Amino acid sequence: MAQIDQLPEGVTRETMEADVVIVGGGAAGLSCALQLHKQIQNHNKEISEGKKTGAAIADPMIVVLEKGSEIGAHSFSGAVLNPSALKELIPDYREQGCPIESDVKKDAVYYLGSDYSVKLPITPPPFHNVGKHIISLSKFNRWLATKCEEKGINIFPGFAAVEVLYEGDKVVGVRTGDKGRDKEGKPKANFEAGLILKSKLVIFCEGPRGSLFQSHSKKLNLRAGRNEEVFEEGVKEIIQMPPGTVEPGQVIHTMGFPLSKSIGGTFIYTIPGDKIILGLVVYLDTKDPLLDPHRELQRLKTHPFLQKMLKGGKVVVYGGKTLPAGGWYSRPKLFGDGWMVCGDSASFVDVQKLKGIHLGMKSGMLAGDVAMEALAASDFSENVTKSYETKIEQSFVKKELYRVRNFHQTLSMGIFESLPLIALQEITGGRGLINNMKVEKDAKTTETVVEIWGPQGLEHKENKLPKPDGVLFFDKLSSVYLTGTMHDENSPNHLILKDGDVCRSICAPQYKSPCNHFCPANVYEMQPSKKYKGEYELQINFTNCIHCKTCDIKCPFENIDWTTPEGGGGPQYRDT
Ligand code: SF4
Repeated sequence: MAQIDQLPEGVTRETMEADVVIVGGGAAGLSCALQLHKQIQNHNKEISEGKKTGAAIADPMIVVLEKGSEIGAHSFSGAVLNPSALKELIPDYREQGCPIESDVKKDAVYYLGSDYSVKLPITPPPFHNVGKHIISLSKFNRWLATKCEEKGINIFPGFAAVEVLYEGDKVVGVRTGDKGRDKEGKPKANFEAGLILKSKLVIFCEGPRGSLFQSHSKKLNLRAGRNEEVFEEGVKEIIQMPPGTVEPGQVIHTMGFPLSKSIGGTFIYTIPGDKIILGLVVYLDTKDPLLDPHRELQRLKTHPFLQKMLKGGKVVVYGGKTLPAGGWYSRPKLFGDGWMVCGDSASFVDVQKLKGIHLGMKSGMLAGDVAMEALAASDFSENVTKSYETKIEQSFVKKELYRVRNFHQTLSMGIFESLPLIALQEITGGRGLINNMKVEKDAKTTETVVEIWGPQGLEHKENKLPKPDGVLFFDKLSSVYLTGTMHDENSPNHLILKDGDVCRSICAPQYKSPCNHFCPANVYEMQPSKKYKGEYELQINFTNCIHCKTCDIKCPFENIDWTTPEGGGGPQYRDT
């Protein structure tokens, strides 16, 4: 056992017994819990009315673990919600106070040249959003959590699951992380040992690149024969505009400026209270070692189209996160003895429409249905959980993802280069010319600075941050301040660097340290080395980390392991 897991003498871990543990209190996990509760009620009612045989399920212990300080603190998305899953889960969601910022009333797509903008004469079908809802995912998840609590579902915020517990290959629970260790991992005065949470079923709903599911997936080789898991990185701001200047309910997407070396686009949503949500999403299979989504978001605001729109505005909220982009062919094995996986952790995002919340919710609900079947049969083995895969195959989750199964791979070729192939995919139901187009790991696509930018490198004008004014333009550190991020300085660094020599001797000279650029929170900085004269070494400011996971995905040498920090740390999102 590593120092980090050792307990002080005389301290033992408390053990709790649960029936179902859901790891992750996002939209997928909370929908799973609600659906499971609903199905148990239905099951018991049918038995009491004599419509079904079998035993009633008595008050099962359902636990949702959330590593954020509260539900919603780590929830971050655009977000335009397709309400299809929500309508099934809570048909009267409006009456029940679902926090919808605005219904979408208008949508448009623009191409941005360096100093001009062109509106597409028609909005392409994937960008049709009228009738859907603009939401804050953070507020939405907090609302879902209140619905869970009304039903007696146990939600444990501030509890990070750090280890899957096994009997052979069967999952039998999880362990939550200790709290109150110092930076060397030694217990402090406020030390609290993590719990052993035994459970008949564990449902992973950890979001993109969940570290617990990563380790589980590696142990059981759940990605064998699948496409690599690939990602996009998104950053966004909320901009407070002068009173009476914003008409809510508009959804605008743009492509082109400011990205020239990477694939991606932007989104602009307007909400009541004269607020504009401005976001930028970039493919992480970029070759560009200097890609900096935060900088690109600042550069976007220098464009005349945005300058006009944002006149008099002030940035009040910032955040960032990755989203899975591999879709259907990147999904892992979805079930096994004592476990299932849902939502972003299973790559359930439609990257063409940039929508995953409804797919996360639906997959969570289907896992909830299967969990009820397992409880009724007292069988939590693969014999029962395998029906989750069938349910996914028969649901709109597969229908939507299968239609765009080759989309990300194609668009990665370039916006204009990919157009004929994407058109062909539209005609052939997603097949196109080659079916199951393969992808390369995002970490492996990065090229050297000279290959991409020539000798100018960081001095190229496209790599310059617009002058920060603390109003509309921010440097990264000032942006991080807007996320409310907190980690105890005297706690273990959760960002594990495997080999610092690689950063100093290969990465810095050739790639100019991509982590210093792609990290949206200024966590990584090359500092002059005390040991090697004239060289630089990596400094990790882990307390700034906003848990986006980009470093775990995009470091060209796969030299950084993102591990789960002490529960409750990280961003404190309220409006994202
Ligand atoms: Fe994201 Fe990694 Fe930076 Fe944390 S350290 S904000 S996970 S890139």
